[in-house]
Amino acid sequence: MRLGTGRMSASGSLFFWVTCAGSVLLVVAVFVGLFSLHSWSDQHEAQSRSLATLRTDVALEQEGIRDPTASVATDRFQDEAERALSLIMASPTQLADRSTIVEMIGAYQAAASAQVAALGRGDLQAANRIYASEEDPAFTRLDAKLSTVVSTEAASAAVGVALAFWISMGIFAAAGIGILVLVLFARRRHARIVAVEAAQRVVAAREETFRSLFDESPQPMLVTMLPTASTEGDRLQILSANQAAVTAYGYSHDEFLAMTLADIRPDEDLDLLVTNLQALQSGRMHFDDVRHETKSGEIREVEIDARQTVFNGHSALIICPSDVTDRVKLQRELEHQAFHDALTGLPNRSLFNDRLKHVHERMQRSPGYYAVLMVDLDNFKTVNDSLGHAAGDALLVEVSQRLTTGIRPGDTAARLGGDEFAILLEDLDNPAAASVAAERLHEVLRVPLPVAGRDLTITATVGVASSSGGGASTDAVRNADVALYVAKADGKDRHTIYSDHMHDTAMERLTLEQDLRVGIGRNELMLMYQPKVDAQTGTMVGVEALVRWNHPQRGLLSPDTFIPIAEQSGLINELDTWVLTAACWQAQQWATSNVGPVPVAVNVSGRSLVSCKLLERVVDALRTTCLDPRLLELEITESAAIPQNSEAMALLQSVRDLGVRIAIDDFGTGYSVLSRLEGFPVDTLKIDLSFIRSIVSEGDEAPIVDAMIAMGLSLGLKVVAEGVETDVQRAYLASRNCPELQGYLISRPIAPEMVATFLLPTRTNTTTTEPRLPTRPNVKTAA
Ligand code: C2E
Ligand code: CA
Ligand code: CA
Repeated sequence: MRLGTGRMSASGSLFFWVTCAGSVLLVVAVFVGLFSLHSWSDQHEAQSRSLATLRTDVALEQEGIRDPTASVATDRFQDEAERALSLIMASPTQLADRSTIVEMIGAYQAAASAQVAALGRGDLQAANRIYASEEDPAFTRLDAKLSTVVSTEAASAAVGVALAFWISMGIFAAAGIGILVLVLFARRRHARIVAVEAAQRVVAAREETFRSLFDESPQPMLVTMLPTASTEGDRLQILSANQAAVTAYGYSHDEFLAMTLADIRPDEDLDLLVTNLQALQSGRMHFDDVRHETKSGEIREVEIDARQTVFNGHSALIICPSDVTDRVKLQRELEHQAFHDALTGLPNRSLFNDRLKHVHERMQRSPGYYAVLMVDLDNFKTVNDSLGHAAGDALLVEVSQRLTTGIRPGDTAARLGGDEFAILLEDLDNPAAASVAAERLHEVLRVPLPVAGRDLTITATVGVASSSGGGASTDAVRNADVALYVAKADGKDRHTIYSDHMHDTAMERLTLEQDLRVGIGRNELMLMYQPKVDAQTGTMVGVEALVRWNHPQRGLLSPDTFIPIAEQSGLINELDTWVLTAACWQAQQWATSNVGPVPVAVNVSGRSLVSCKLLERVVDALRTTCLDPRLLELEITESAAIPQNSEAMALLQSVRDLGVRIAIDDFGTGYSVLSRLEGFPVDTLKIDLSFIRSIVSEGDEAPIVDAMIAMGLSLGLKVVAEGVETDVQRAYLASRNCPELQGYLISRPIAPEMVATFLLPTRTNTTTTEPRLPTRPNVKTAA
């Protein structure tokens, strides 16, 4: 690659040579002039000499004429005069008086000849007369004239010599000055040449440095034509590319030369390229967020620095793309993490709120509706606790995908935390459309989800609230929350659309929650005990502790009104702990009183068996009340107990190892595979009252009840039938060898002091006076 060179100007050199030639010509001209002056001066001098000779000769001749006896050879003088005259006549110098002199000479000679002729005749008188009247005046005039001319010519010659002297002096001076000027000029020119050469060396060095920088730089660089106002990206020819660019883009140097800048941009970015080129012309040199495409089609994120340069003598553009793909990826990941849930990849609460704010503002400007759906998975905690966190996570991921596919592309499904999801439906024609969307989500979720090697059926409860942009954007979320709260209270697996009165209901529930929080501490809870009897003998074999809340304003409240609230708010652990301790205390009271030992069954919420430290709580209760563990039974609902993971099973086993018994409550409602019971750490099965209800009249068959009893017995478990209300039921169950019965027929839940009285008549009726201490059934355990 060759970048721009400074070309030395030829005009300086031309000027130099013209000056030299001019100087030489001038010197030659001066010398020619001087020479001419010299010859002119010489001629004048010669003329002056000739004239002087002529005068002398004329004078001598005159002398000879005057005195013919004188020894002067007139002829000789005459010859000399003739010669001098011919010299004068031949002289190139224009003698102004030449014709006058010739005339005068003619006149003189004519007179002299006449005198000589007179003398020759011996006519002395005539000779004297001619002499006096003609010859002497002619001589005098000629002599005077020659004298004048001689001095004029001598003066001219002197002037010529003086002039020649001064001109020579002038020439010397001028030559000196000229030489000085030339020397100065030459020195200046030399200095200029040196400077130009130095500049050229600098340029060359720069070019060399640049070339090695360009070629060897690890930074990819491209040289393109300089864009002008009319240039589009596809016309911006690539003029050069360095090795790093060849490596980075996969094109050879020659391939690059056949390409334009547009060829390394993805097609969809070409508009951006044009915009950037325009910005470049306005002086912008740095560009972020640019994408380049390599030969293999890989898209790389780059930052561009551009500089104008000179390439092969033309203005060009040097482009340095820095690959920032990794950084951009990391940045995007960080941004994504800030606004997305790590597990499911769904938008998180921040992003959801942001989108909500935007749609709310949009709806304020244009007509339409949007809706917020709060989605809560039913019994997610159970799945999480029973199948483990990994399965819980897998379930959440599956659910997220289902929710995303269940909404339109412009809508948002977000995970707010735990099993709580929120959906933002935008641009609805009417609020009812939200209900349709909620129904669709139910359907999508109802299809069994493959989690941890099994198909799980999960349901969700949804609170729906729509808005047309009135009030605050947070109103829709709050209202959807209220609707969800109400939907859950109404029995889950449903969606409820918010209406204004719900707010009051929700507020009431919240108030109740607050009251319960305080009430547990204030001992407002109390326990009733429902007896269980031996089906054959009717003897009371134990009691189940059932909690009641003696609310200061509302009176006695049944567990159905506050257990769901306790479960929803997390107060359930505190409540269960209170019940456990109170029941143990009561059982110990009975055991140490004349009532005698009465086994007590306590309901334990299936939620978070492990995390809520059930073992510690049981150990604590037994220790503080000193109750014989064999008098305590824990009832855990089937839906909570059966899907438990190995950790929870081990925990139940540890509880069992204390001597405490485990009962499966509401058996038959949890759809558990009966075979799973084998190896489960359990002592008792409590058949749910819904099955007992199927025994209506004498002669009815209840095959499911029969199967449950048979299976429980075959596993060596104690079987209890719940909700026995009629004699028909009692007789049927007794005929099927169901060991124990519980229900209103035997007794409603009663106050503890009533238990003693309940015992009395049966004790008198039976052979056994004391309730039997339960014995451990022969069941294989998981441990
Ligand atoms: P559960 O454990 O299945 O308790 C039996 C429920 O059935 C009790 O209602 C009892 O009064 C009722 N019952 C008994 N015999 C009959 C009958 O013949 N017919 C009918 N229709 N009902 C009968 P209760 O006391 O209202 O308790 C309701 C549920 O509340 C309980 O169901 C249990 O799941 C929960 N619960 C009660 N006490 C506690 C407690 O201390 N802790 C926890 N976690 N849950 C409790
Ligand atoms: Ca129970
Ligand atoms: Ca039950």
